[in-house]
Amino acid sequence: MRKTRIAMAAMGAIAALTLSACGGNGGGGAGGGETGGGTEGGETIRIGIKYDQPGLGFQSGGEYTGFDVDVAKYVANELGYSEEQIEFVESPSANRENMLANGQVDMIFATYSITDERKQTVDFAGPYFVAGQDLLVSAENTDINGPDDLNGKNLCSVTGSTSAQRIKDEHAQEVNLLERPGYAECVTAMQSGQIDAVTTDDIILAGLAAQPNFAGKFKVVGNPFSEERYGVGLPKGTELCADINAAINKMVEEGAWEEALTANTEGVDYTFNEELNPPTPGDSCA
Ligand code: GLU
Repeated sequence: MRKTRIAMAAMGAIAALTLSACGGNGGGGAGGGETGGGTEGGETIRIGIKYDQPGLGFQSGGEYTGFDVDVAKYVANELGYSEEQIEFVESPSANRENMLANGQVDMIFATYSITDERKQTVDFAGPYFVAGQDLLVSAENTDINGPDDLNGKNLCSVTGSTSAQRIKDEHAQEVNLLERPGYAECVTAMQSGQIDAVTTDDIILAGLAAQPNFAGKFKVVGNPFSEERYGVGLPKGTELCADINAAINKMVEEGAWEEALTANTEGVDYTFNEELNPPTPGDSCA
């Protein structure tokens, strides 16, 4: 743990130097060089989350809410960081691997699926949740019931996501895929009629559809076609996986995991897959 902290602090310091050499502050956070010290020194931990996924990772004023945020707070607390010591940093889908590799964040809780490709650049603790890729369509839509119904349709997803990648790998011929930086932008595009469907994880789509400004307009198809195992993204070579996994298992055992999920999906038309959840992470990285 000690070694890791020093390594993390060193990485932060290098990142801070690199950023100041470039004349920008890069959004890496003020505490770059002092990060990773636990409670002893009143230092901070930088945690990457989404800012635009209601119920998962959401920023409103200075408030951060959602299931990812709650799991992050629980895990950070188990690692010795109080809530005040957490500095949340926005981590869009396309930036996650880079942000970890560059030392801009210490860990990421951002609907971040564990994949072999990503594991070449980053490590993952977890999983702490399993979602499934699905489609969001207009409430009146009857002809799109799964990924095979997308012939000639305009579909929106997010750059750098497994959702966009799966469409490119498996449905590139028939679908017109539009990529945006965030899912909320996709839903707005669908609202204005440019898009026939939005694709990503069911829990993300359900959270967006439940927003008051979209009320009654959209529905999740409810035919998931992948398993998205949400991991805690960490810099490659981390020694934190066992501790983080123990924290996740404790959160589940204590009932705090289910409590957080229930609270964050209140009023949302979503039921998690009970066969796959809660997952039980082992004692090493995923
Ligand atoms: N879970 C998927 C992924 O990690 C989609 C959601 C997201 O973009 O965060 O790519």
